[in-house]
Amino acid sequence: MDNKTIMQYFEWYLPSDGLLWKKAAAQAGELSQVGITDVWLPPAYKGASGAKSVGYDVYDLYDLGEFDQKGSVRTKYGTKEEYLEAVRALHGAGIRVMADTVLNQMMGADETEKVEAIDTASYDREQETSSLHEIEAWTRFTFPGRKGMYSDRVWTADNFSGTDLDQATGSKGVYLFRGKQWNDETDSENVNYDYLMGVDLDFDNPDTCQALIDWGKWYFETVQPDALRLDAVKHISFESYREWLKLIRRETGKDFFAVGEYWSGDLGKLLHYINVVVDGQPSRIPERKAEQTEDPQDNSLPEGGAPTQDDSLPEEEITKEARKIASVGTQEAAPKKTEGTQIALFDVPLHFAFLNAATSNGNYDMRTLFDGTLVQARPECAVTFIDNHDTQPGQALESYIPEWFKPIAYSMILLREAGTPCVFYGDYYGLEQNNESPILDLKKLIAIRRHYAYGPQTDYFDDNNIIGFTRAGDSEHPDSGLAVLATDGSEGMKYMQIGPQFAGQQFFDALGRHDDPITLDENGGASFHVHAGYVSVWLPENAYRYIRTAF
Ligand code: CA
Repeated sequence: MDNKTIMQYFEWYLPSDGLLWKKAAAQAGELSQVGITDVWLPPAYKGASGAKSVGYDVYDLYDLGEFDQKGSVRTKYGTKEEYLEAVRALHGAGIRVMADTVLNQMMGADETEKVEAIDTASYDREQETSSLHEIEAWTRFTFPGRKGMYSDRVWTADNFSGTDLDQATGSKGVYLFRGKQWNDETDSENVNYDYLMGVDLDFDNPDTCQALIDWGKWYFETVQPDALRLDAVKHISFESYREWLKLIRRETGKDFFAVGEYWSGDLGKLLHYINVVVDGQPSRIPERKAEQTEDPQDNSLPEGGAPTQDDSLPEEEITKEARKIASVGTQEAAPKKTEGTQIALFDVPLHFAFLNAATSNGNYDMRTLFDGTLVQARPECAVTFIDNHDTQPGQALESYIPEWFKPIAYSMILLREAGTPCVFYGDYYGLEQNNESPILDLKKLIAIRRHYAYGPQTDYFDDNNIIGFTRAGDSEHPDSGLAVLATDGSEGMKYMQIGPQFAGQQFFDALGRHDDPITLDENGGASFHVHAGYVSVWLPENAYRYIRTAF
């Protein structure tokens, strides 16, 4: 089997020119040739900020750049037809399409509603800080520009648990609607991190779950994606989302790949999510604690009870599946592990390890690079990455890996056995706004992964500056097998063995920093050299010649 490589096909500050879908279609052939097997496209639906929306301020899940809403027919990336054409072109080039799926929040409602709500503390969402009072919330979505096409559903406050703005007074807060509670199975930051922004989808309401099932089926029929990237999973009921995934996989007959964005550098949290969603273990987070607590006397309200039944909805509109999704989180018994629950997570701890290594002036202990990472703990569930649209300069989670370290970091995710790597658009094409150039040697590293990074791996993580590993190659991939040596410090050498089958052969540095080949000894080993603050990747002669001429 060939190595899989995902590419995140957008960055935050792309121009709002409506040309990304066309670019993806035009570039499909080249991406495939370089070795990209999966392309993650940004959210395709209309956001509250219309043609400028990156896609996470979801307004209308059914408007893929087709209706005159929010001041534009097209999205930031183009029209629906161009989107579908991009998917066809990628498929035509043998590339799978991963669709970005944003189901935590909506924004840009068409009308406000008067809703009774309580204020909750921003740092402790379980702590009520006011009595019940009326607010004017942006919760009514009627989609007048779409006029009921594909779905005539109107979203109202019943579908949401809370919001952050009282339009009547202009006050900001974290408002929990009457009769609602924050979903219990979410991240424990701020005690309960169900609420992120906009109006928060209420997974306790079967009508909301039904809406997401209906949409998921429609989306798969319409777009034919091959995989999903799930936004903001730490803010969405873990078990409800698992049930939604299972159901969509069953309905579509596709056991598609899914990767969740659980933004946390804490490996324990990622493993907990995987335990719950993939392994079917109980979801209860043992302890929710606020970092600070206010006067316990200031608690004029009783504990929030279970949400009241939604009497306004006709029973027949709510299927059993939606009820199950809505209620699964309240079951006492641990659900059993079942088919269709597979989910990977982005390896955020590894991203921060790279950042530490790259910003320690050469004093990082490179032997510890993979300690506490998801790819080490659960490699089959890890999507490794260097940067993304949230970590790039100017973004809320800015933690951009300095350029000098990126070839090292990419060699560590692209050429090793473990994990599924994801290449960032900004590293491949550069970041125009920040005058960042494409990362040196990145195409070569992707292509080396595609053709030659196969076979058993031997690690040489035995020095705090210079680390390396070899891959012994396999019979399925001609000329496969390689040696990688990297350092965050000064230049040096390390003896590494690739395998006795390579005894006496010459190996060449595919990144071109060393002119002369190295001849392997009778054990298929040699003392390889690496220049300061860089990486060398040694390949057999045929492989080397292909990489040097094609990329
Ligand atoms: Ca939520």
